[in-house]
Amino acid sequence: MPDIVLIGGGVIGLSIAFELATRGVSVRVLDQGPFGRESSWAGAGMITPGNPLGAKSPETRLRAESFVMWPEWAARLNEESGIETGFVRCGGIELSPERSESEIAAVATKFQSEGVRAELIGWRELRELEPHLNPEFGDAVHLPDYCQVRNPRLLKALLAACAARGVELSPGSPVIGFERGSQRVTSVRTPAETISAGQFVVCSGAWSQSVLAQAGCSIRVEPVRGQIVLLEALPLPTRRILEVGSRYIVPRADGQLLIGSTEEHVGFEKRNTAEAVAELIRFGSELIPSLKTARFERCWSGLRPGSPNGLPYLGRVPDSDNLFAAAGHFRAGLMLSPITALLLRQLLLGETPDFAMNELTLTQ
Ligand SMILES: Cc1cc2nc3c(=O)[nH]c(=O)nc-3n(C[C@H](O)[C@H](O)[C@H](O)COP(=O)(O)OP(=O)(O)OC[C@H]3O[C@@H](n4cnc5c(N)ncnc54)[C@H](O)[C@@H]3O)c2cc1C
Repeated sequence: MPDIVLIGGGVIGLSIAFELATRGVSVRVLDQGPFGRESSWAGAGMITPGNPLGAKSPETRLRAESFVMWPEWAARLNEESGIETGFVRCGGIELSPERSESEIAAVATKFQSEGVRAELIGWRELRELEPHLNPEFGDAVHLPDYCQVRNPRLLKALLAACAARGVELSPGSPVIGFERGSQRVTSVRTPAETISAGQFVVCSGAWSQSVLAQAGCSIRVEPVRGQIVLLEALPLPTRRILEVGSRYIVPRADGQLLIGSTEEHVGFEKRNTAEAVAELIRFGSELIPSLKTARFERCWSGLRPGSPNGLPYLGRVPDSDNLFAAAGHFRAGLMLSPITALLLRQLLLGETPDFAMNELTLTQ
């Protein structure tokens, strides 16, 4: 019998499993499909900079704590799996959708007040940094510490590292029910077996609400579709992440460029739509006009686990001594995966948490 069963093998479940396994805990991860093929695979891999010394709100604190963990986390995974995650400090530029000077100045102030390196730059400096950018864009914020990770590679590294540490990985094992006493879950059911364990964690991404409902818990997590277009452009017209409101371009070192992303409340419908794909391509080639002749590679979509306030639920669920949730990471699950793994490990093993969990647990 495993000590801990994790329900969901996306970046969150696999990161927690790896973290626990390095402490000698016996872990089993169940996924209804193959591992790491949902939102975690579909994401763009942006790691927004943060600074724990300046972070004040729960959102900025969580981001900052995770941000500083990333270099070591990526190095550890690389060492344990032999797989390079593609984590790199590529830098980023934030631009204003309305091309408004005051709006972009406010973005710079926000990052600076968090203690993040953020430089307000004008038209000339922007041209020097990004010569291929549409000259209609003027003021911008330069974020030299912006990072990215190749999330499909991160997932491969996590899977290999988990396997090497003896984590029992069970793909094709949907959880379809819980068995419980008054305050404790005793086992979970899949179509093939009933699995007992000491503790259980629901980390089922956009499906977490329905999985938790089977255990009698109501925690709100809803799917929010995001579509992405992949182009190839060699030589790369930019090496930095370019962000304009909720839209962005993420360049990969091998000449691929991701253009994302939509935010759509359409339930569990994962298809790409002609309208969104056209709009993303239009956005990308408006930002970098030379992309009009880039090669169209493909497009995809994923279901982000949305929560009522954009923050994840990290903690024990009400009325259960041994059932936990790590769900609802919305647009930031890749970025927040190292800190989520650390906090859940501390919680599950009864260690003193690095910072107060009640700051981070949603009250719904
Ligand atoms: C287009 C897009 C762009 C994004 N860009 C970024 C970004 O740049 N940076 C960033 O930090 N985040 C980004 N995100 C968000 C990030 O991808 C998510 O927050 C993160 O992947 C959530 O991870 P997860 O493990 O909770 O969910 P998932 O990866 O969805 O994993 C959940 C797993 O649970 C399994 N599951 C569900 N139900 C059951 C069941 N009953 N039994 C067993 N298993 C079950 C699923 O099969 C799935 O494998 C993006 C997301 C999208 C869609």
